[in-house]
Amino acid sequence: MMELEEIRLTIDEHEAIRLADLLDLPHEEAGRRMGVSRATFGRIIQRARRVMADALVNGKAVQIEGGSYRFVDETRWFCCRKCGHEWEEPRGTGRPKQCPACRQKDLYRISKKTKKK
Ligand SMILES: [Zn+2]
Repeated sequence: MMELEEIRLTIDEHEAIRLADLLDLPHEEAGRRMGVSRATFGRIIQRARRVMADALVNGKAVQIEGGSYRFVDETRWFCCRKCGHEWEEPRGTGRPKQCPACRQKDLYRISKKTKKK
């Protein structure tokens, strides 16, 4: 099989496409979610769309790489001492009251990073 040529999409660009084109958010709202200005978001989405168009039209593989925006900070992981169940809680929801698997309250926070290249 022929190797596909690869082009890179940063995590910021990936997130921009998700917010603007998948969730259909206005640029202002999407920018706010990513912590950037509307103008900056506009530049990110513009480049992101060009990369995607290049991939579609020229049959390239899109590789997603690191950006300044980190998914890692968005979720917190907890682990249950009783059953060992691990789960993630979105930021801002407060500490979970019990293990979703066994309903025990003996739980602790663990650090778990989404895998990074
Ligand atoms: Zn449990």
